[in-house]
Amino acid sequence: MSLFVQKYGGTSVGTVERIESVAEKVIKFREQGHDMVVVVSAMSGETNRLIGLANQIQENPDSREMDVLVSTGEQVTIALLCMALKKRGYDARSYTGTQVKILTDSAHTKARIQDIDVSNMRADLDAGRVVVVAGFQGVDEHGNITTLGRGGSDTTGVALAAALKADECQIYTDVDGVYTTDPRVCEGARRLDKITFEEMLEMASQGSKVLQIRAVEFAGKYNVPLRVLHSFQDGPGTLITLDEDFSDMEQPVVSGIAFNRDEAKVTVAGVPDTPGVAARILAPIGAANIEIDVIVQNASADGTTDITFTVHRNDLEKAKTVLGKVCADVNAREVIADDKIAKVSIVGVGMRSHAGVASKMFDALAEDNINIQMITTSEIKIAVIIDERYLELAVRSLHKAFGLEAIEN
Ligand code: ADP
Ligand code: ASP
Ligand code: MG
Repeated sequence: MSLFVQKYGGTSVGTVERIESVAEKVIKFREQGHDMVVVVSAMSGETNRLIGLANQIQENPDSREMDVLVSTGEQVTIALLCMALKKRGYDARSYTGTQVKILTDSAHTKARIQDIDVSNMRADLDAGRVVVVAGFQGVDEHGNITTLGRGGSDTTGVALAAALKADECQIYTDVDGVYTTDPRVCEGARRLDKITFEEMLEMASQGSKVLQIRAVEFAGKYNVPLRVLHSFQDGPGTLITLDEDFSDMEQPVVSGIAFNRDEAKVTVAGVPDTPGVAARILAPIGAANIEIDVIVQNASADGTTDITFTVHRNDLEKAKTVLGKVCADVNAREVIADDKIAKVSIVGVGMRSHAGVASKMFDALAEDNINIQMITTSEIKIAVIIDERYLELAVRSLHKAFGLEAIEN
């Protein structure tokens, strides 16, 4: 007998029929004698709908009230799932984040979990009940409802699995595992049997939304066995593992390709090339709580240079306002913004032991006439900023160049 924490995403609980199917699935595990804790997301589209309502009132509503609002989506699905279980004769009890209690810090809309009280859940499991917990939400020390950031139900699942020392955390979704790249963008994408935590973390941080990055961080930190599976199709899914030794197969140089369209690029042009000027430009950006991703400084010509960096698209207007002032302070010529960019990253622990990966990537992009605007690397990742229009083409050609396509029979 094992203890499983299963998380079902928005599409998997998107209709009452699907919620009933999830109940049937949970019952199958229960019938095999397993203890079950189930985390659910809001019905698909519901979180976006709630955010849309808020935005009809105000562009940037108060973040505490935003959390009160968006946490309601998951409260609906926990109750419906428990009803579906009870209708079938299985005892179940639903819990909001507050009721569990999942204690977080007070950073509304992006709170971090600090502690989980497992006593209620343990008592229910001991009494033979299925425990159903609302994903994505917690409560701070003052009793305020908090949420964990978009996709945060994954993190709830992993955190509960860690706290309960579950045998496995199973993330059920609308794809049958983690693929070499988003299967919706690249037809040849292939499901991976295994991927290392380090690679999954990099994939998630570079934009693969199949798992929320914090969920992967948490699982790595607490060594939670984590698997991604399809909600309604049987299969082994993908195991996220600490083990880098894939002795049963040759370790590929590149394991996956991630991408996102979430960033925008800003250039401060004609900056006097003097010591300290980069700090004077970037410090006010940091002070305005804007995160910077890729940074490039051009070689100087005639004593001036250009400094370009990327920020989240949602922060672009704020960044332009801040830089407008900075530009005058440092005597720069102008600020140029571009939000029609995308970032494509190749990820793989195999890169550590292989030379020439970058040139292979750049060759593949060059062959398709895709201009690279910026480059950034880490030990197991190379990411480039390109024109948004060429994103899908870039993903497909890199997928092919690194031999990630499905092996044809
Ligand atoms: P859920 O609502 O179940 O949390 P998400 O939409 O958040 O589901 O995540 C699943 C989606 O992630 C898939 O439908 C797929 O389009 C996307 N995705 C992006 N990159 C990958 C990848 N490398 N492997 C699998 N799915 C991916
Ligand atoms: N419902 C939340 C969202 O849409 C959390 C989740 O689904 O993981 O982001
Ligand atoms: Mg998700």
